[in-house]
Amino acid sequence: MNSLTQVIAAVSTPPGKDGVAIIRMSGEGAFEIADRVFFPISGRKFSECMPRTQIYGNIIEDGERIDDVLATRFPAPHSYTGEDTVEIGCHGGILVTRTVLEALLRAGAVPATAGEFTRRAFIGGRLSLTEAEAISDLLEAKTRDQLRLSGGDARGRLTAKIAEIRASLVSLMSSIYARIDYPDEDLGDFSDGEVRASLYNIKVECEKLLSTYRTGRAISEGIDTVICGKPNAGKSTLYNLLIGEDAAIVTDIPGTTRDVLTSSLPLGRVMLKIADTAGIRDSEDMDAVERIGVEKSRKMIKECELLFAIFDISRPFDEEDRLILEATRSVNVPKIALLNKADLPAVIDESAFTGFDEVIRISAKCGEAEAVQKLSNSVNRLFTDEKIVIGQDAIISSARQHASLSRCLDFVRAAIESLDLGFMQDAASSDVERALGAISELDGRSVSEEIVSDIFSRFCVGK
Ligand code: GDP
Repeated sequence: MNSLTQVIAAVSTPPGKDGVAIIRMSGEGAFEIADRVFFPISGRKFSECMPRTQIYGNIIEDGERIDDVLATRFPAPHSYTGEDTVEIGCHGGILVTRTVLEALLRAGAVPATAGEFTRRAFIGGRLSLTEAEAISDLLEAKTRDQLRLSGGDARGRLTAKIAEIRASLVSLMSSIYARIDYPDEDLGDFSDGEVRASLYNIKVECEKLLSTYRTGRAISEGIDTVICGKPNAGKSTLYNLLIGEDAAIVTDIPGTTRDVLTSSLPLGRVMLKIADTAGIRDSEDMDAVERIGVEKSRKMIKECELLFAIFDISRPFDEEDRLILEATRSVNVPKIALLNKADLPAVIDESAFTGFDEVIRISAKCGEAEAVQKLSNSVNRLFTDEKIVIGQDAIISSARQHASLSRCLDFVRAAIESLDLGFMQDAASSDVERALGAISELDGRSVSEEIVSDIFSRFCVGK
């Protein structure tokens, strides 16, 4: 990262041939740097032109015109970063864009690193850390729900909710400390009961927000899902159906899928990171490659977060089906039994499939739309809370947010416990202070440099 005293510049649009490209420059001195290379047609100096208005002019370096552009200046603090910022819209060719950027760099700017503009916005107090994370997710969004989750409304709701919890903790802390520091002052009554009630409200708010994580994570990060089943049960047919293309080879020959195929796809509101594994069997005729595939499948079953166990109900339940049931039984994650080939006469009864969260009949080959719908309903039931309105409610979605908020809740619970055990308010105060530390970590007020760097490294240069 560059020093905050430097003016940073970068191309903010993706590389490639396009209608226009945007080059962004930010920092104290950005307008002076622009004045060295950008000359408005009006003849006025750019730094003296109207702010937040597009100014037409030329980029000229050493007397040579590089491009005619539209440039806008955003004086601090009314810009994305909160610093003086210049945005130049030039023609979107690869070479012309690079040449304009290089002219700005030679005039005094330095190249921005990944996420540096947003990082400056965070440092300048324009964004909380959770808002910065949401912007990173917004850039990566592939589904409408991901977009809603990271959009402006949702970002604002989460920031407001965290600020509310933080403000309650600050108010509680200051009341407790005022009483400890000025025991003789008449500061009004603030009984243990009131401290407990206030802590209890904070606890409920933290729990409510924490309960949104399951839904938030399912939508934004996705659920590691494994399709398992004996050879020929229809794993690859289902995998291809879900991802919408013939990626896995479908044949009647057992052991066709030897390696693990993976893909990401939305199913209803949930994002699935799905893997089609080699069919699990234990047979003399398996070669070394198939054996490795089967071992890999067993390992993936143990590590996944959602299991689709697929069975062919048109054939009698056999030893291979039993192996699958055994392999899935020891896994403590949501499990869905898919009784496949429902278009053929069934010879296995549903009662054979115990221990699953859901048991659904599908035909991956002949009833595609219905199969996808049934599966989507089950997965959404298991991983999302229907009462949560995406885009409107405050929702946490990253492991970092979950960890900080859980820590905050633990300290709030510990403070309540101290009071319940009859300790004085000052005994609870250290836990309240730690809870405040944890929530400050969540919104980025007090967070390690390592975490901040990790978050901003996910951004592209120019954002
Ligand atoms: P895998 O070994 O578990 O991956 O099974 P495949 O997906 O390769 O399917 C094995 C065979 O079963 C293929 O011939 C598929 O066309 C067939 N198959 C898969 N699903 C269905 C289904 O729902 N109904 C019928 N009738 N055949 C299916």
